[in-house]
Amino acid sequence: MSDIHGNLTALKAVIADLRDKGPVDEYWCMGDIVGYGPAPNECVELLKQLDLRCVLGNHDAAAAGLLDLADFNLAAKDAIKWTMDQLSEDNRQFLASLPMHCSEGDYTLVHGSPLDPTWDYISSAAKAKTSLSYLQTLHGLVGHTHVPVLYVYVPENKTCVVSATPAGQPVQIARQGRRILFNPGSVGQPRDGDPRASYALLDVTASTITHHRVPYDVEAVQRAMRALGLPTSLAERLSHGW
Ligand code: ZN
Repeated sequence: MSDIHGNLTALKAVIADLRDKGPVDEYWCMGDIVGYGPAPNECVELLKQLDLRCVLGNHDAAAAGLLDLADFNLAAKDAIKWTMDQLSEDNRQFLASLPMHCSEGDYTLVHGSPLDPTWDYISSAAKAKTSLSYLQTLHGLVGHTHVPVLYVYVPENKTCVVSATPAGQPVQIARQGRRILFNPGSVGQPRDGDPRASYALLDVTASTITHHRVPYDVEAVQRAMRALGLPTSLAERLSHGW
């Protein structure tokens, strides 16, 4: 999972959906636990209870006081300032302690890209190919764009191609020496036109990824954001998933 952004309602829906689908060995998160949404502390505290591997996102870094706010847009900046005021010292320290990279077996987790974990967006197959060349492991798992996408490196013609990940259908990822770069989309603020929470289930033994979408009570989150005085544009975009 990635880009939860303080949206506890969406995070709870994802965890419930995962538990319905069977035992989960570990939860892997590509960062941005907080920022934008109304429940930063609650999201951190829920994740702390899980067997979690998580890397630092740009919003986490800013909320923890590790990153200047100058590079964020106005609404993001307002939400981060609000988040900084809300975060308990324990939760701030938890965010500040998150690593930029984390590797497990064939997989490296990073928020943006291996070149620039904080700010770089992998938004094209060409960029995915370059990013793979900087990875120490076979495969990469990223977040940051809030758009679910699977890039597959095809060694026969040395290019990366986008591969479909139809919801609920396992996709084989490690055939014939192929490498992948995968973004599961955003739990708490999807930007691919589908407002449902986005996540994926990775089976490292079978080498499959299954992408899932989960509906959650968007309106309840919007009401909470408005009541707390968070920017209205951030609440409104949740309806559309943009
Ligand atoms: Zn994000």
